[in-house]
Amino acid sequence: MPIKNQPTPPRFRLFNNIFLILGALFLVANFILPSILGPQIPGVPYSLFIHQVQEGEVARVQVGQNQIRFQLKTGDDQVGQVFSTTPIFDLSLPNLLEEKGVEFAAAPPPQNGWLTSLLGWVIPPLIFVGIWQFFVRRGGGGPQGMLSIGKSKAKVYVEGEAAKTTFADVAGVEEAKAELVEIVDFLKTPGRYTQIGARIPKGVLLVGPPGTGKTLLAKAVAGEAGVPFFSISGSEFVEMFVGVGSSRVRDLFEQAQKQAPCIVFIDELDAIGKSRSSSGFYGGNDEREQTLNQLLSEMDGFAVEDATVIVLAATNRPEILDPALLRPGRFDRQVLVDRPALSGREAILNIHAQKVKLGEDVDLRAIATRTPGFAGADLANLVNEAALLAARNGRQAVAQADFAEAIERVVAGLEKKSRVLNEKEKKIVAYHEVGHALVGSLMPGSGRIEKISIVSRGMAALGYTLQLPTEDRFLMDEAELRGQIATLLGGRSAEEIVFNSITTGASNDLQRATDLAEQMVTTFGMSKILGPLAYQQGARPMFLNDGMPNARRSMSEETAQAIDREVKDIVETAHQHALDTLNHNRDLLETITMQLLETEAIEGDKLHHLLSQVQAAPAL
Ligand code: ADP
Ligand code: MG
Ligand code: ZN
Repeated sequence: MPIKNQPTPPRFRLFNNIFLILGALFLVANFILPSILGPQIPGVPYSLFIHQVQEGEVARVQVGQNQIRFQLKTGDDQVGQVFSTTPIFDLSLPNLLEEKGVEFAAAPPPQNGWLTSLLGWVIPPLIFVGIWQFFVRRGGGGPQGMLSIGKSKAKVYVEGEAAKTTFADVAGVEEAKAELVEIVDFLKTPGRYTQIGARIPKGVLLVGPPGTGKTLLAKAVAGEAGVPFFSISGSEFVEMFVGVGSSRVRDLFEQAQKQAPCIVFIDELDAIGKSRSSSGFYGGNDEREQTLNQLLSEMDGFAVEDATVIVLAATNRPEILDPALLRPGRFDRQVLVDRPALSGREAILNIHAQKVKLGEDVDLRAIATRTPGFAGADLANLVNEAALLAARNGRQAVAQADFAEAIERVVAGLEKKSRVLNEKEKKIVAYHEVGHALVGSLMPGSGRIEKISIVSRGMAALGYTLQLPTEDRFLMDEAELRGQIATLLGGRSAEEIVFNSITTGASNDLQRATDLAEQMVTTFGMSKILGPLAYQQGARPMFLNDGMPNARRSMSEETAQAIDREVKDIVETAHQHALDTLNHNRDLLETITMQLLETEAIEGDKLHHLLSQVQAAPAL
């Protein structure tokens, strides 16, 4: 995660100091000044004062709100001594004084009274407001270089003209950029779309691991379109007082609509957008729900004929989002912002290296090769680390050696947090994925293979093979299902052939292959031995993958064993098929894997061309 600890913005510091100064003035005026300036009058208990009055020793009394001063009589017409006492609530005092013939009057207003009372009345509320502001603002100032606008209670940022981010500042996420170019167009020329009656999308969700440039992309969209950028982070809402979250959302959209066309960016959407059914947030749950509901209603609220407000949001946990957020008219578009592959990393390094002085010997390509699994933020960090090292080593420019040292540091930090493959693992994953691709390219019904990659996608997989169906399929025949199973086993088979050993990486493949085989036998009636019987209760459609295994119908022990044997047979046949295919194309397996290791991802025509050379193994 990007580091959240930004220094307090100067404006805020000044703001705080003003309160400190006012607070000190208040103390001085109320307590310290009077005791210094006022005459030093000895104090006595009230009871003594009353006693002296009753004894007729008191000449005159001055009754103030906080103090009673009295002067004693003296025998020989001299000025008597003055004492003071603290009054108690005593309504009989005037009567007593009159009775004893004491001259009495109310005290004149104190000399510094207007200042004291002004400060006394004004400062405490101000201090309170200051403390309140402090808590509301806690939770992070916005990115620097942005200026705050709008009502103080809504933290809304508009991008300053000076710090304009554009697509040129973002690299390595070309697919995401291509999709966002369209959004820029919506913002620039909404008329072109609304004129035909097209509905401009309201919400776009940027999904990807931390540090891949989601925030950066959102700013770049605003920068490219030249529109204001309102930003708020989901995690801030969680810290707020009850009711503040939803009113802030309302405020945010109000402001945005006034400034349209513009972009509202909600970072860390998962912090408010957590599925409402999933419980488990102590206390804050109600508040978060209110905020989420407000967000949903705001998104439904702004109508098509209104000026264009596009809501961009970012999350690295799309799976926990409330489904209501992903409905059409809300965040119905999702853009994957993935970790960059080799060439992407080089491009990102290029961007960040421009901010530092590079030595002659620096080879960014070589650095990119050595940093698989790094996200954009890691690369930015790497460049900075290298620059720091260079400065510490007393160099005038950053040298390749500094980068080498910096990589070791950053990797050490990253390995704790996320998956960075070592060389050996990278090789295994490469053979594994090419195994899937080779087998898959021959199998009926497995779709066209569009991309193989050893850059881990999201959090789950180490590498991936992307198959796109060539058409919508509603029915699959037995051969196609067997082909799918063989494709799933292709990865593990390649590992077996090349390394003569098996890793834990194929477990998900095996799970899916076995599930498919079991369904063939128990649900689709594709086994010759067991016949066209459904052995499962109320089977759901196979593609409705809700992860719940169907319960088996009650059956005899023999039938259960027969099912198990059939499932095993199907999986093993497919496994053998995959092994045969890979052995038959052993050279191609090597060639493609070497290429994949070099570029980390192969796709499109290049991949199609390579895979067109795969030959079917002769049937035994
Ligand atoms: P995210 O929002 O996905 O967690 P950020 O956009 O906050 O990531 O990225 C943090 C910083 O890392 C950016 O400000 C930028 O300096 C750098 N960065 C991240 N991704 C990229 C990228 N694709 N291209 C260039 N710089 C990047
Ligand atoms: Mg971010
Ligand atoms: Zn696999």
